Amino acid sequence: MAKLQAIRGMNDILPAQTSTWQALEAAFHRVVNRFGYQEIRFPVLEQTQLFKRSIGEVTDIVEKEMYSFDDRNGDNLSLRPEGTAGCVRAADQHGLLYNQQQRLWYQGPMFRHERPQKGRYRQFQQFGVEAFGMSGPDIDAELIQLSADLWRELDIAEALVLQINNIGASAERKAFGAALTAYLEAHSERLDDDARNRLYSNPLRILDSKNPDMQALLAEAPVLADYVSEESVSHFEELKALLSNAGVAFEVNPRLVRGLDYYNNCVFEWVTDSLGAQGTVCGGGRYDGLVEQLGGKPTVAAGFAMGAERLVLMLETLDKVPQQVPTSLYIVVPNGLAKEAQSLAATLRGEMPEQRIISHCGGGKPASQLKRAFSLGARYAILLDSEGLDQGVVRLRELKDGGEEATLTLDEAPVQIAQRLLRA
Ligand code: ATP
Ligand code: MG
Repeated sequence: MAKLQAIRGMNDILPAQTSTWQALEAAFHRVVNRFGYQEIRFPVLEQTQLFKRSIGEVTDIVEKEMYSFDDRNGDNLSLRPEGTAGCVRAADQHGLLYNQQQRLWYQGPMFRHERPQKGRYRQFQQFGVEAFGMSGPDIDAELIQLSADLWRELDIAEALVLQINNIGASAERKAFGAALTAYLEAHSERLDDDARNRLYSNPLRILDSKNPDMQALLAEAPVLADYVSEESVSHFEELKALLSNAGVAFEVNPRLVRGLDYYNNCVFEWVTDSLGAQGTVCGGGRYDGLVEQLGGKPTVAAGFAMGAERLVLMLETLDKVPQQVPTSLYIVVPNGLAKEAQSLAATLRGEMPEQRIISHCGGGKPASQLKRAFSLGARYAILLDSEGLDQGVVRLRELKDGGEEATLTLDEAPVQIAQRLLRA
């Protein structure tokens, strides 16, 4: 029978890589804690309507990328393609938003039916941060500083550039969109298929085009900056001042619009050229209208999300993968000594709970057990034998460096081993 395979674009993450993932997760947790953000968890499945009403009907995500289906009750549900909509839904449903400030974070899998390629998958992991009830640029600057702190924590800050833009309010974008459409209509013979499709439904997305011909055409197009209100311009100027004051370098990219409809005023992305085409590792901005749009009381908000796979790829590409924690001790167990081995292992683990201690299972010759200890990179092995146990001693062998052997009494073994492990 043919073996079943994972679904295309949905990755298995194997033990050789999970330590990198864990280090990334731990770094993210340290940083969000440091800034006083609290975790929120919400389901991977929601009503499809939630995503249509938040991300926007005429976006790549909702038009082409969602995993949607009717469940057994006939409800149309979708696997979440991003976290903000579900986060807002959950926070509002449980009364966390009205007249309050919240600093929240989440992490988990997201699902988009895209063409799988390096850095682009159909199930991928996002870390996200959302802040509610704070209207000023101070919170925008805080969110960006938090992300910058994570890059420092991961030692990849040098490889990332911050791009920011002011996209104004939705009415302003609409007016700009009309002007952009008029300009592009006048050059309709130069439009590619994608631009033609977007011309009336979502012209701003054409700004995002990766096609050099479109970018050339856009060089002469109207610019969004001329359409945004003075109020949002001054918000943006204050944000820039706050970033400069915090020592966070940025580039203003007037083409940056982001692919989700709910954003307003300042938006940002962290981009790298170390990953090829999939260079955006983190994106976010303000979304002051979303809570109300989803039926809640008006609540200002801002947030961002980052793609964990792309960060893992960056860590690998830049050779910043954290060292694996080695096995500290491997207990070699001759046949018949399982009981003694397991009680010794229990004592040792009780004495040094942070150390990785493996007690051999499954029998076999001591020599081949030792080989296994070496292949795991264990630092020490305990060689049990019944003669020694009768006399109340065990042999401890160093597997690195000199390979020295010491005989320890069972009583002193925990302390002696703990000391040796700490010394190195
Ligand atoms: P892109 O322009 O690369 O398609 P996006 O604008 O669709 O990104 P967002 O919806 O803002 O991305 O999601 C935030 C982050 O999640 C992205 O910057 C990226 O790091 C990651 N991400 C988005 N889609 C995928 C995917 N299909 N596979 C892996 N990571 C992804
Ligand atoms: Mg996308």
